[in-house]
Amino acid sequence: MSIIYTPQKYKLADKPMENFIDPEEINEILAAHQQPSIQKVNEVIAKSMQKQRLSLQDTAILLNANEPEMVDAIKSAAKQLKEQVYGRRIVLFAPLYVGNLCINDCTYCGFRSTNKKQERITLGKQDIIDQVVALEDTGHKRLILVYGEHPRYDAQFIADTVKIVYGVKHKNGEIRRVNINAAPLDIEGYKIVKEAGIGTYQIFQETYHKPTYEKVHLKGTKKHFEWRLAGLDRAQEAGIDDVGIGALFGLYDWRYEVLGLLRHVNHFEAVYNVGPHTISFPRIQSASGFEVDKRYEVSDADFTKLVAVLRLAVPYTGLILTAREPGHIRDEILQYGVSQIDGGTNIEMKGYTSHKEQQDLDHEQFEICDDRSLNEVMEELVEDGYIPSFCTACYRLNRTGEHFMEFSVPGFIKRFCQPNAILTLAEYLEDYAPPATKEKGYKLIEDSLKDYDDERFKTKLVERLGRIQAGERDLYF
Ligand code: SAM
Ligand code: SF4
Repeated sequence: MSIIYTPQKYKLADKPMENFIDPEEINEILAAHQQPSIQKVNEVIAKSMQKQRLSLQDTAILLNANEPEMVDAIKSAAKQLKEQVYGRRIVLFAPLYVGNLCINDCTYCGFRSTNKKQERITLGKQDIIDQVVALEDTGHKRLILVYGEHPRYDAQFIADTVKIVYGVKHKNGEIRRVNINAAPLDIEGYKIVKEAGIGTYQIFQETYHKPTYEKVHLKGTKKHFEWRLAGLDRAQEAGIDDVGIGALFGLYDWRYEVLGLLRHVNHFEAVYNVGPHTISFPRIQSASGFEVDKRYEVSDADFTKLVAVLRLAVPYTGLILTAREPGHIRDEILQYGVSQIDGGTNIEMKGYTSHKEQQDLDHEQFEICDDRSLNEVMEELVEDGYIPSFCTACYRLNRTGEHFMEFSVPGFIKRFCQPNAILTLAEYLEDYAPPATKEKGYKLIEDSLKDYDDERFKTKLVERLGRIQAGERDLYF
């Protein structure tokens, strides 16, 4: 069965920049679908498997499905759908923290302005180069640059730092895609950042529940719920059609937040005819100076289920999981939803060159639970049959935003993403992998080639693999 992209034309005439979140609507939908029958749950799952986008009501049914047999059915459907849409490839990236100055006071974050214990650091040009060289030397090709919110980190600063990163070429290493996670900008600001050649611009709403939002954002620009909510509309207006949304799980009821995320997707589709490229769902981790109401802590069981529900609700949107989560949770949810993970992550300022044994919360935003090296993550993925990918082809061939949607049709992943994953994996194996990983990696590539019954295409792919082994780099379909 193949997946056909069916954008959901949201019934409301959403407008750019408007506040599309109606808490009453979300709460009513959640309340109207309490304790669904197994029959209802199966109907929604079947709809998702028939390539139809789920409505907020359908999704509420899955969110409220608590019986173990229902949860098993949701997870196994998500697993099947993920394999159909994304194949076995998992995209890898690393975060790079550029500066932790911050004017805001978000109660959950170690960078909050009132946290006097946090050492404030902004990377200079040479610091950035050093960090990027260290990342390239492990094999990374895709980074997300992360910034606190501060007048010093204006659009020009962000653009300049992006350009520095693209300029670092060390041995065979280069960064081919730089994504951004920073404060929302105005339209002019986004235009400046776009000029620097960014990939995705990510902004997490944190919580879609305005009263909670106001309770946890005590100071600074981030206090303004609507300014942030329209943040990615302004990006779209400035021509950045590749955007990532997210919610910070643990601030408010997780079911409400999932519907908030979905409503955000619907808004983009209604107004721009293109959904967000990615959804992130960080779970709150402990941080220096951290004060969070534990009432809304999300259990492992609820967290893994919510990822499966998201997969079923928005099959074509990338789901990003980060090293905030411990290895065993990552391994579980990789199976039924996630398409991108970070590897070899260090979120300490200048952390990729400091080689500290212990995490030091006064030098980083929050605690991470998965501190495996990139190669450890790669090797485990390969052993589990996933194809780790550093592919950046779509962005560089202008297959983003609405264009990308046109390509998200049956066969696209198999024709482009999977072969590009194989080619970037071969680059990694040639340049960075220790012998044991190299052997396992090539065995996986050999097995993956068996999936191709189109002999002409397979010949092309094998020819490119040979060129990589002979020393050529950056080949893609
Ligand atoms: N300063 C910008 C902002 O707030 O949008 C961008 C960078 S912020 C460092 C990136 C994200 O980290 C935030 O949007 C938030 O969701 C997440 N975050 C903050 N504190 C966290 C914590 N204690 N645990 C997990 N994630 C956290
Ligand atoms: Fe600053 Fe972002 Fe942390 Fe809030 S989440 S304190 S804005 S770095």
